[in-house]
Amino acid sequence: PPKPAPPTGKKVAVIGSGPAGLTVAGDLARLGHSVTVFEALHKAGGVLTYGIPEFRLPKNIVEKEIEYVKKLGVKFELDSVIGRIKTIQELLEEGFDAVFIGTGAGLPYFMNIPGENLNGVYSANEFLTRSNLMKAYRFPEYDTPIKVGKRTAVVGGGNVAMDAARTAKRLGAEHVYNIYRRSRKEMPARIEEIDNAIEEGIELVLLTNPVRILGDDKGNVKGIECIRMELGEPDESGRRKPVPIRGSEYVIDVETVVIAIGNGAACRQTEAWISDVLSQELAGRGIAYVIVNEAGASVYSTGPVGREEFPHLDAALRSAVSIGRRLQDPLSELVKIEPCSIGVGMYQHDVKARHLRASLDDVVASCVNFVGVDLNTASPALLRYVSGLNQLTAQRIFEYRQAHGPFKCREELKQVVGIGESTYVQAAGFLKITGGTNPLDATWIHPESYPAAERILARWGLTPAALADRTKVAALAESLAKTNLPQLAKELGVGELTLGDIIAQLSRPGRDPRESLPQPVFKRGVLKLEDLVPDMELRGTVLNVVDFGAFVDIGVKWTGLVHVSQLAPRYVKDPHEVVAVGDTVQVWVREVDRERRRVSLSMVSPQERAELEARRRRPHVLAGGTAGHGPPPPRSPRPA
Ligand SMILES: Cc1cc2nc3c(=O)[nH]c(=O)nc-3n(C[C@H](O)[C@H](O)[C@H](O)COP(=O)(O)OP(=O)(O)OC[C@H]3O[C@@H](n4cnc5c(N)ncnc54)[C@H](O)[C@@H]3O)c2cc1C
Repeated sequence: PPKPAPPTGKKVAVIGSGPAGLTVAGDLARLGHSVTVFEALHKAGGVLTYGIPEFRLPKNIVEKEIEYVKKLGVKFELDSVIGRIKTIQELLEEGFDAVFIGTGAGLPYFMNIPGENLNGVYSANEFLTRSNLMKAYRFPEYDTPIKVGKRTAVVGGGNVAMDAARTAKRLGAEHVYNIYRRSRKEMPARIEEIDNAIEEGIELVLLTNPVRILGDDKGNVKGIECIRMELGEPDESGRRKPVPIRGSEYVIDVETVVIAIGNGAACRQTEAWISDVLSQELAGRGIAYVIVNEAGASVYSTGPVGREEFPHLDAALRSAVSIGRRLQDPLSELVKIEPCSIGVGMYQHDVKARHLRASLDDVVASCVNFVGVDLNTASPALLRYVSGLNQLTAQRIFEYRQAHGPFKCREELKQVVGIGESTYVQAAGFLKITGGTNPLDATWIHPESYPAAERILARWGLTPAALADRTKVAALAESLAKTNLPQLAKELGVGELTLGDIIAQLSRPGRDPRESLPQPVFKRGVLKLEDLVPDMELRGTVLNVVDFGAFVDIGVKWTGLVHVSQLAPRYVKDPHEVVAVGDTVQVWVREVDRERRRVSLSMVSPQERAELEARRRRPHVLAGGTAGHGPPPPRSPRPA
């Protein structure tokens, strides 16, 4: 290991020795801080040691990592559950200057079905820990028993379920069923993990969900009752929702059940904590928070673009910078990541990667060209999507800028190696320069239209310099709005469409079309289901759009549904006409079903709804009246 920096005299306590704790401990020790790791279990390594089985991650690799951290001077205190042996406050009082909490997401989910407390039912965490860490497979030589029996059922479709199923097989189960409620295509486990499991003889029992676990008179598992499922409409995760088929229940005889349906990652708890801090310690300071999608941040931070932009930063810090920048200018940041890595839902796995890439590239290019790019600040990743440019020319523009300083005018682009006349003509209109020698370069007017733009300005007694003066631009815009477009087009000898574009640009030079979009949702506190009342107005973010409506995150744990009939005060055939994933929308609460934890929302305001109702009730007037015209009332919702 590298020699640590000279001691800083600072002491840090790290709670948990999983990958998070080990990374923090190692990095801080290298900076010269004195670090102690407190680990609840008798062995360090977290899930790498007790969760992931040996056949997938040999333990000597994990041990080498731990040894490396120890050589940097980090001390380990095992069998130390913080919160039990001492509190964080006590650690601080003992002289630790900072505490890092890296305790993982170890709280397993259960299905809440009858029989989960029978002997022979394990969470995957417990099952794998008993096997990996406690060496239960060598019982009675080791103290911890593990019950596998001849037939084992593992419930869940992720990597953890695959690990548990393959472990059960290795522990001697003759037959292992892997029960999953959706189809194979939807299994979240990596394809090779599923293939490996099948090769080892694991039986996939797909489109099936357990309804109860059956026990014998001694309280031991003797079977698992399941119901067959069919795939219905997509839910908020983008995957088709499994729906039970009535009367299809049947029993699989098993002696062991392992439940591997995920662990809590404590995201909502973290949000609740931030919300508490804002309302208590930081009350009255007007601080709000916003949740930014982190999809693909690690792809950026460990890829060539992240490494090049921040060669001296750790990957985790690069990710943090990328997530922060997404709030400032999402487009400029997200173009640095392959669009496939920012996918929503599972559909990207169903199409050919080559086709997906080409079609996503087209979408990104059209977004970039629609917004336009600042030639003097854009990264090569953004420039390469500009019409006429490619990776090489984008890189050359970037290098030219580094060698010669900012571009002073669009014409200067032609000085860049590889940018000939035709590339210039294609690209120039999408690249703007603010503060350059020609004010028209700060607008989205193409250089070919400069003479026409100058003639228009001259007609109002102005020169391009006026575009930098807000009052002059406002007066010009007002006057241009009254212009007879066809007549002016004829006089100037330009097409009406081009003239319309020029006028729009002269009226709002260099306008960013995103300015008119809704702002991101800044929150001040977490809402509970109990806080929601009908007609309450909220802002939310669209998580997914399906044919019966849109799922909207309104900051409550349970995502709300805007049914298609509630998307607009008119008939909507396809929800995609009205909303898209990521849109910020204004919604009103319609109904809250506390028992089933369902929130139904509307994008039609209560006033609009009342007006529509009134219009519907008004008697029909045959002549001169308006009855029967206007938007039809919202349709009654179909069950979701
Ligand atoms: C079976 C399985 C297979 C997986 N396969 C993969 C894979 O193939 N690829 C992949 O990228 N990820 C995989 N993961 C996920 C990955 O292991 C986790 O994302 C990762 O381990 C999280 O690291 P962490 O340091 O945050 O937490 P953890 O690894 O959970 O470590 C937290 C540590 O904190 C300790 N701790 C908790 N509370 C206290 C306390 N109060 N005091 C002291 N110590 C405490 C725990 O004992 C534990 O050692 C898998 C997970 C499982 C369970």
